[in-house]
Amino acid sequence: MGPLLFGSEIYRGSSYGGWHPLRVPRVSTVLDLSRALGWLPPDRFRVSPRAKPAALATWHTPDYLAALEAAERAGAVDPPTRDRHGLGTASNPVFPEMFRRPATGAGASLLAGEMLAGGGRIHNPGGGTHHGMPDRANGFCYLNDAVLGILSLRRNGAPRVAYVDIDAHHMDGVEHAFAENPDVLLISTHEERRWPFTGHLHDAGLGQVFNLPLPRGLNDDEMALARDRLILPAVEAFAPDAIVLQCGADAVEEDPLSRLSLSNNAHLEMLRALLPLAPRFLLLGGGGYNPWSVGRLWTGAWAVLSGQDIPDRLPPEAEQVLRGLRFDGNSRGRNPPDHWFTALRDTARLGPVKPEVTDRVASLSARIGAIPGRWL
Ligand SMILES: [Zn+2]
Repeated sequence: MGPLLFGSEIYRGSSYGGWHPLRVPRVSTVLDLSRALGWLPPDRFRVSPRAKPAALATWHTPDYLAALEAAERAGAVDPPTRDRHGLGTASNPVFPEMFRRPATGAGASLLAGEMLAGGGRIHNPGGGTHHGMPDRANGFCYLNDAVLGILSLRRNGAPRVAYVDIDAHHMDGVEHAFAENPDVLLISTHEERRWPFTGHLHDAGLGQVFNLPLPRGLNDDEMALARDRLILPAVEAFAPDAIVLQCGADAVEEDPLSRLSLSNNAHLEMLRALLPLAPRFLLLGGGGYNPWSVGRLWTGAWAVLSGQDIPDRLPPEAEQVLRGLRFDGNSRGRNPPDHWFTALRDTARLGPVKPEVTDRVASLSARIGAIPGRWL
């Protein structure tokens, strides 16, 4: 099976509401850009199926799923439902596709687990909803497709899964699911002292959980250190049957919600380095609230996953897609720099490695030898 991109038109025009960070187009940009570049012929694309509640109930509670479906039908939630399930809040608002849209992202990750049974690479840019909890919505995530995708991989011939999460926020929902599972390696890099305020350096699970909190202003050289001394050696030592990479675009400099300062090269080089380390690879989206950063990064990631060369200057059809984006209600939307329209790759953001980054990477690297081994 060649590399596949999973997508859906449900994302186009769907919004969490006019003031919510997820009012911006994301997956539709990836599809439009990839097609404009000739990188998405019909045989590389699959329409993401919408997962049924029974499939979602492999991790989510039936009560929660019923409440989520009912909220979409009614277009409203009552106060007890809001309090119990986190629905109808400022973060997780009621909106017209509030069940169907996340169920589509989850359906793609569930199907990816099945389709990767014989090996291969799949990109689900609508996935990466790593904050979702079994019984409640959390941090813009109504369902946790990352957890469901890992469970699906494990049911379909890949018992050992390495999950790597380079979103600006900690992977709290995924860690909640697998912190006590020796067959799921969990590695998260995230901005320190930022919501959800979990993911401390010393939280180790059974020895297979690695949390690397990082300071504001993180640069590409610092991320390369984490990649080469911690992430790649830990994944290699674990010898996974599958890798899931959550590629949140909110760790990039221009994101409005976080204060890390990576260029998108950091994400693309992480992906390139991880690809050869397992026969099955599931690439997920995640956070990312600047429409240009997200579209350029996840399209570039599809290029890396599917073996395309990224041109220095985009052809006119692709430039047109980026010039058509709007970022209403944010100052970054008023005067976008020219390279947001004309190139996928950012200029590298290099710099000194701060001592606390070196120290934290070293303290986690020292634990690699104690990762639980393959149980025979
Ligand atoms: Zn995030």
